Amino acid sequence: AKQNGRARWMMFDQTMQEGALRRLTLEAELRLALPDGQLFLQYQPIVSPKDGVIRGFEALLRWRHPVLGMISPVEFIPVAEEIGLIGEIGGWVLGEACRALSVWQQTSASVLSMSVNVSAVQLNDGRLVELVTRVLGETGIAADSLKLELTESAVMADPEHALAIFKQLKSLGVRLSLDDFGTGYSSLSHLRRLPIDTLKIDRSFVSAMDTHGDKRQIAEVVVMLARSMGLDVVAEGVETSAELNILREMGSDFVQGYFYFRPLDVEAVVAALSRQNAG
Ligand code: C2E
Ligand code: CA
Ligand code: CA
Ligand code: CA
Repeated sequence: AKQNGRARWMMFDQTMQEGALRRLTLEAELRLALPDGQLFLQYQPIVSPKDGVIRGFEALLRWRHPVLGMISPVEFIPVAEEIGLIGEIGGWVLGEACRALSVWQQTSASVLSMSVNVSAVQLNDGRLVELVTRVLGETGIAADSLKLELTESAVMADPEHALAIFKQLKSLGVRLSLDDFGTGYSSLSHLRRLPIDTLKIDRSFVSAMDTHGDKRQIAEVVVMLARSMGLDVVAEGVETSAELNILREMGSDFVQGYFYFRPLDVEAVVAALSRQNAG
């Protein structure tokens, strides 16, 4: 039987075998990652393009595995969703990010916001409102300084359900962003009914927008749509001054990207804020 199993195993194509093995490894290792302290957050500043001042941060989850090294959230978040770990991990992220903000807010001259990514699975697990209520209570941050980011596709998969949850979240006073906007298929009628505050233009429309008229046009439509609905716009993935200038002209309220800051460790955030306070 062992011989037989081995023969079948050999029939796997090499990359499939490696992919399947890595996947199994990640599933097993991810269960240990949170209790073992391998997960941590970086914070990417969200900046006003007019004056370059930091207005807030997006919390971005990181996994440093002792043997495999850094593993991208693009790879492990779907694993966490599939094996039922995203509730626990997402709860930890929210608490950690809000605790960090409560500390930074005490020494910052300006009002700061914290944006936290929420998985589609969390939107549907029936515990999100309770989680947010608890974390706001524990950390004491102003509810309107917390922004929850949900992807356009997660929301539009079941707009009626999203609307019901969003109404409860809004009654807590938190703010809501539609992430990766432009990559999903929003119906305008659904969009209008959702009590959201911000549209985030996906990086795919920002990257090289100076040389690609089609991308620029999509970004422009998003800005105009946001204007007409009274929403803020954040452009993500701004890497060059050419992109920044276009977004400034369009009237994007906020920008986020390597041009200003990469995602930062806590110490680097504190340094950036104290430079800002001094300046
Ligand atoms: P996202 O929410 O769209 O986050 C923005 C991503 O763009 C981040 O990648 C950020 O590092 C990257 N980025 C920002 N500016 C630039 C730039 O100028 N150039 C380039 N090339 N990239 C830029 P990251 O940190 O790898 O996260 C990838 C995705 O993983 C996120 O996309 C989000 O969907 C997911 N994610 C990250 N943290 C969490 C989390 O705590 N919970 C959940 N549910 N998802 C998370
Ligand atoms: Ca995001
Ligand atoms: Ca995004
Ligand atoms: Ca994105």
